[in-house]
Amino acid sequence: MISRREFGLTTAFGFSLASAQAAVRELKISRTTQSRSVCPYCAVGCSVIVHSLGDKARNVRSSVVHIEGDTDSPVNRGTLCSKGISLKQFVNSDRRLTRPLYRAPGAQEWQAISWEQAYEKMARAIKTSRDQGFVEQDAQGRTVNRLENIVMMGGCTDTNEINYLISKFRFGLGLLPYENQSRL
Ligand code: SF4
Repeated sequence: MISRREFGLTTAFGFSLASAQAAVRELKISRTTQSRSVCPYCAVGCSVIVHSLGDKARNVRSSVVHIEGDTDSPVNRGTLCSKGISLKQFVNSDRRLTRPLYRAPGAQEWQAISWEQAYEKMARAIKTSRDQGFVEQDAQGRTVNRLENIVMMGGCTDTNEINYLISKFRFGLGLLPYENQSRL
């Protein structure tokens, strides 16, 4: 007996469109590389699967062609809200910031700099602030070895492993204030 679904896919000419429609569905992601990631928008931290095209050769740039919810995730079980479902547009937007920008003191314009220059500037700023703000002893003469003039903020996509490394880094500096929007 023909099912309601099969009936809906059968044309007036007497043949089924099911195999053709299945082929179209398969073609969409059949040649993609799948990478697991996390939606960057909010603290829910929904898991996503990013589908990209490109053979990963050095001179080939991969392009993201589809992003969907990860059904294996206990956080979202494959679902995404309207922001998460639009992630592909975010990734492929020509307005997306992909390089560090620097605005010199007093300057009005931002200038693109390399990651090496950005690391150098951040390291220099942290070193200068730490030299100025490191406290070895508190007012009662107790040894505290803490840094009071820098705070650190995390993000919703920070995993346990990233937070572990961040903690190593900030405790190494003596840095205590830390906030993270992640509620995973
Ligand atoms: S898909 Fe929606 S609910 Fe999930 S992390 Fe992204 S913005 Fe938050």
